Amino acid sequence: MRGISIKPLLHGHMDLDKEMLVTTHPDGFTTGDSPNFGNEMCVIPSVTYIIDHPQDGRLIFDASISPHWDREWLPEWQAAAPWTHTEQEIFENALKTQGIGPEDVDIAFLSHLHCDHAGNARLFNTSGTKIMMHDDEFRAAADRTEDENFFLRADYELPGAKYNLLPGDTEIMKDVFAISLPGHTPGLMGLMIHLEHAGTIILASDACYHKDSYEKEIGSMISADQEQWLSSMHKLKMLARCHNATVIPGHSHTTCQEGGEKCPLHGEDHVRMGGEYT
Ligand SMILES: [Zn+2]
Repeated sequence: MRGISIKPLLHGHMDLDKEMLVTTHPDGFTTGDSPNFGNEMCVIPSVTYIIDHPQDGRLIFDASISPHWDREWLPEWQAAAPWTHTEQEIFENALKTQGIGPEDVDIAFLSHLHCDHAGNARLFNTSGTKIMMHDDEFRAAADRTEDENFFLRADYELPGAKYNLLPGDTEIMKDVFAISLPGHTPGLMGLMIHLEHAGTIILASDACYHKDSYEKEIGSMISADQEQWLSSMHKLKMLARCHNATVIPGHSHTTCQEGGEKCPLHGEDHVRMGGEYT
């Protein structure tokens, strides 16, 4: 639709053993606790997206990592995926640089509740912002009695928050579709956005970590259900083909495409970090 824009914001990166991202049968891991294990390491960006819609307001896709991560995350999470960032890349500061405060955001859309995606949702618990996610994601999280598997209760137990829980695929703004892609977590959702110039963009979040997850269809040991993950990957590819879409993975600077010649961004394989899609 004419007038919609998507602006990617970079919030530093985590260092993670590649075996955690794209295999499910590692022999062991390279972490801060075992730095010499020798596996290949990935530098994975933390990215959120501001979506400005001419009729339906402003949405932010995901909420990155809490600046209090070093005292809130379990020690093993910190060792497995240490976060490096500048002061300006902290979510709240990056929004401020854009002239945006929590009260200027109509919808905070959480693809899922892992602590590197929901870490600043708490900024929106009193701003009147709708905190939107799949019902299954919220229910599964609410059933947890302790922090585990990269789910941190401080990220999603938000007194006063205005939750908006989706039952499945939904058009949440005109030409902006929440797409159900479970498997990585019970209720992961991506967004599919039809733009005037850039064509269709799909923000896949961790349903697709990076290009290898997409092209080789290799799941991650961090994902909760591998079979469900694979069927969501097939759904993602089907949508990408149907709409000649550009797929933006959850933790990559490189995009994935199925669309061939008709795809408006064919040949452009880097996320427009610091720029925008219109
Ligand atoms: Zn995740």
